Amino acid sequence: MRAIRRFTVRTVLPEPLAALAELAANLRWSWHAPTRELFAAVDPGQWEAVGCDPVRLLGAVRTERLAALAADGRFTARIADAAANLHAYLTEPKWYQSLTDAPRSIAYFSPEYGITAVLPQYSGGLGILAGDHLKAASDLGVPIIGVGLLYKHGYFRQSLSRDAWQLETYPLIDPDNLPLTKVREPDGTALRVTIGLPGLRELVAQVWLAQVGRVPLLLLDTDIEENADGGREITDRLYGGSSEHRLHQEMLLGIGGIRAVRAYCRITGVPQPEVYHTNEGHAGFLGVERIRELTEESGLDFAAALSAVRAGTLFTTHTPVPAGIDRFSHDLVAENFGGDNQSPAVQMEHVLGLGAEDYPGGDPGCFNMAVMGLRLAQRANGVSVLHGAVSREMFGGLWPGFDSPEVPITSVTNGVHAETWVHPAVFELVERELGPGALGEDPFAAVDRLSDKAIWEIRCVLRAALVEEARQRVKDSWIARGASEAELGWTADVLDPDVLTIGFARRVPSYKRLTLMLRDRERLTSLLLDPQRPIQLVIAGKAHPADEGGKRLIQELVRFADEHKVRHRIVFLPNYDMAMAQTLLPGCDVWLNNPLRPLEACGTSGMKAALNGGLNLSIRDGWWDEWFDGENGWAIPTANGVDDPDRRDELEASALYELIEASVSRRFYDRDAAGLPTRWIEMVRHTLSTLGPKVLASRMVRDYVRQLYIPAAASARAVTADGYSGAIELSQWAQRIKSSWPQLQIEHVDAVADSDGNGEGAPRLGGTLHVRALVQLGSITADDLEVQAVYGRVDETDQLRDTHAVALERNGVDDLGRARYEGVVELDRSGPFGYTVRAVPKHPLLSTAAELGLAVLPTEVTVSTSGDGENNFMR
Ligand SMILES: *Cc1c(COP(=O)(O)O)cnc(C)c1O
Repeated sequence: MRAIRRFTVRTVLPEPLAALAELAANLRWSWHAPTRELFAAVDPGQWEAVGCDPVRLLGAVRTERLAALAADGRFTARIADAAANLHAYLTEPKWYQSLTDAPRSIAYFSPEYGITAVLPQYSGGLGILAGDHLKAASDLGVPIIGVGLLYKHGYFRQSLSRDAWQLETYPLIDPDNLPLTKVREPDGTALRVTIGLPGLRELVAQVWLAQVGRVPLLLLDTDIEENADGGREITDRLYGGSSEHRLHQEMLLGIGGIRAVRAYCRITGVPQPEVYHTNEGHAGFLGVERIRELTEESGLDFAAALSAVRAGTLFTTHTPVPAGIDRFSHDLVAENFGGDNQSPAVQMEHVLGLGAEDYPGGDPGCFNMAVMGLRLAQRANGVSVLHGAVSREMFGGLWPGFDSPEVPITSVTNGVHAETWVHPAVFELVERELGPGALGEDPFAAVDRLSDKAIWEIRCVLRAALVEEARQRVKDSWIARGASEAELGWTADVLDPDVLTIGFARRVPSYKRLTLMLRDRERLTSLLLDPQRPIQLVIAGKAHPADEGGKRLIQELVRFADEHKVRHRIVFLPNYDMAMAQTLLPGCDVWLNNPLRPLEACGTSGMKAALNGGLNLSIRDGWWDEWFDGENGWAIPTANGVDDPDRRDELEASALYELIEASVSRRFYDRDAAGLPTRWIEMVRHTLSTLGPKVLASRMVRDYVRQLYIPAAASARAVTADGYSGAIELSQWAQRIKSSWPQLQIEHVDAVADSDGNGEGAPRLGGTLHVRALVQLGSITADDLEVQAVYGRVDETDQLRDTHAVALERNGVDDLGRARYEGVVELDRSGPFGYTVRAVPKHPLLSTAAELGLAVLPTEVTVSTSGDGENNFMR
C-alpha cells in the first residue's frame, strides 16, 4: 500500500540528551571522529543500520534506550564534553581572525557539495572539493557562506545488472530526515526566494541551511506547492534533464542564490559578502543578478555595474575538457533573459554578450558559462599549476594581444580536508605509538618519530580494513545481480590482506581511461597471478547516467573481473561515494591514475591516498605534475605528441605494466629480516612528511584567502567607495580606451647594446640593452598607457618565450606629437634573445595589464643591437 502523505516524527530527546540534537545538526560530526563515536555509542547496532547518520539514528533509537542513556552519568558527561568542544570550535578565534583587511564575508557558489555520504548532493571531485573548501574554511575561521541547490534525488546510486551494465536508482531524499533546517524570517515563516522565468512565470524556492561547522551552506529547493507547471521539478536531480532544465537550475543557483544570501544576511545580521567565488561556471548568473541590483538600487549603468561586480568576483575553472564546459544555445538564453523576464537596465543583449564565444574558433550560436564566468570576474584561476597554464592557453582568445603566459588566469592547486580523508585508525595508531596528543600542532613532523614497524602496521591495518569491506561489497553486489548466497562462498576470500593493493576509483568520463589497464589482458593477468609478487586491484566509479560509452567501459571491466581465474585479485565495487572512498583510499598501497594528459585539471583522490601513506602511480597530470619528486611514487611516462589515441593508449599502458612489474611490486615485496619492506616504508614516510602538508585543503583555502580573496576585497572596496565612483570611472575610462585604441601606434623602435663599457663586441651576458620607442598616442593620454620593453628567449620561429616586461620611461614629445619612451633591459641570460615593445592600458583599478585584452605592438621596426654606437634613433 502506498502512503498518500509522508512526514517525519521527530524524536523528543530527554533533557539530559538534548545536546545530541545540536551535535547532529552541525555537520562537523562528519569530520570529528569523537562526535561520531559518541553517536555510535548511543546504539551501535542502529548506528550501522542507519549508515552512520546521526539524524536518522536519533529518529530510530528506542525510547527505553534513550531513557537508560539519560540516566547514565558517564554518558551524559561525554555528551557535555562533546557539546563544549563544538561550542569552542564554533566560537574561538582562528587563523582568519588574525588577518587584517580580509573580506568581512565571502559567498561561495557551487552546483554540488560533497560533505558527507549522508547528504548525496555531489557527483564527484568538483562537489567534494567544494565540501572540503567549506570544511577547511570553517577550521580556519574564514567567514564563508556556501550556496547551492538541494536536489531531491541527490545523485544516483549505482548497481550492476547480471551482465555488468550500470543501473541507476534515485533515492528520494527527505530534507526532514537530514541535517538541514529551513531558513525562516524573523516572524517564523519560511523564507521564500523568487526568480522570474519567461512568460511572466515565477519560480519560488525555499532555502535550507546545512551548518558545516562555522560555515552556513544555503541550499535552494523548488519542491514546494507554490510552484505549478513543472517548477517543483527544477531541483529534482543533479545535472539531469534537458538543456532548459539545466539552465533553470543555473538561473536559480546564481540569481536565486544571491537573493538567498541577501535574505540570510538580513535575517542573521551576518555581513553581506564582499567577495563572490564562483566554483565552476554553473553559478555564473550570480554576476548578472548583482549587476541588476546595482543598476536598480544604485543607479549605475550596465558597464559601471559590471566593473563593480567584476572587482569582487573570483571564477575558478575546473576542467579543460570541452564537454565538461556548460554551454547553452544562444536562443535558449535569449528566451530566458529577454521578453517579460528582462530587467530594464540589464538587457538581453548584455547577458548574451557576457557568454558569447565571439573569438576565433568560437561558436556564435553558443552561450558559454565559463566564458561568462571569466568576463564577470576580475580574478580567475585553474586548480593546479599545469591546469592554470592549460586554461591560459584555452581561454587566451578572450585576451587578444597577449601571449598565454600573460592571460590573467592564475592557479591555486586543490587540496583535501585531512580530518575527512585520513582514516581514523591512523590517528589511533599514531597516538598509541607516540602518546596522546602526539599529532599536535604539526602532525607531519610526528612521522619522523614513528618506527618503520609502526608505519607498516598502519598500512597493514588500513589494507585489511579495505579487504574486509570489499568482500562484503562484492558479495552484496552479486546478490543484487541475482546470485544466491549459496553460490557466493568464494567472496569471503576475494583479495588478500597481504598482497600489494592498487586502487582506481573515480567518475568514468573517457579521458580518465578506466580500462587502460585492460589493454593487454594477458599481461595484466600475469601481474595479478604472479606467484611471488602478485598485485590486486580494487576499482570503482560511476558513469554519468547518459554516458553509454562510460557504461560500456564499466561493463568491459566488470566482465574481466568476473572471470573465475582472476576474480579473487580484481574487484569492481559498485556505488563509489564518499563512504566507500573513506575506506578504499586509505587501504590502497598504490593509487593509480591514468588520465589523458593534460585533461585532469587537478585530481584529488591521489591526495587523499597520500595523506594515508598511499603511494601514487600516475600520469604526470594535474597535481602530480607539480609535486611528483621521484621519491614519493611513480610517474607513468606519457606518450606526448603521439596523435593516434589508440597508439598512445598502447604506449602508456605498456609503460604502466612495466613500472608495476619492474619497480612497484619489487619494492613492495622486498623485505628485510624482520619482514618489513624498508624501502617501501621509506617512500611512505617521505610521502607523508613532504606531500602531506601540501595536499591539505587548509593550505588551499589559505592560498585562496591570501592570493585572491583579500586582493578581490581590496578591488571591490576601491570601486565601491564614494557611491561607486571607482566603478563608474573605471568603466568610462575603459570605454574611452577601447574606442581610441585603434589610433595608437608604435611607430619606431630601436635598441643599442651597451656591451662591455669599452664599446667592443656584440651583446653579452651582464650587459644592457638600451631600448627606445616612438609612440603615436592619438587621442589617448600618456597617463593611460604603459609602454613596455618585453624580452626573453626566442624560439626558432622568433616567438618570445619566458618573457619579462619592463616599463619604459616617457621622455618628451617630438615635433610630430609622438611620445618618446626609453629604458634599459638587462641581458641576464645567454643564448637566443629577443625583445619587442608594447603599449598596454594603465589604470590603478586594473588587476593586470592584460585585463582589457588590449595591446599594441610595433608594425614596422628598425632595430640596432650592434653596439657600434651607430644610432638610427629619430633619424
Ligand atoms: C575524491 C573523490 C573524487 C575525485 O576523484 P578524482 O580522482 O579527483 O577524480 C570522486 N569521487 C569521490 C567519492 C571522491 O571521494
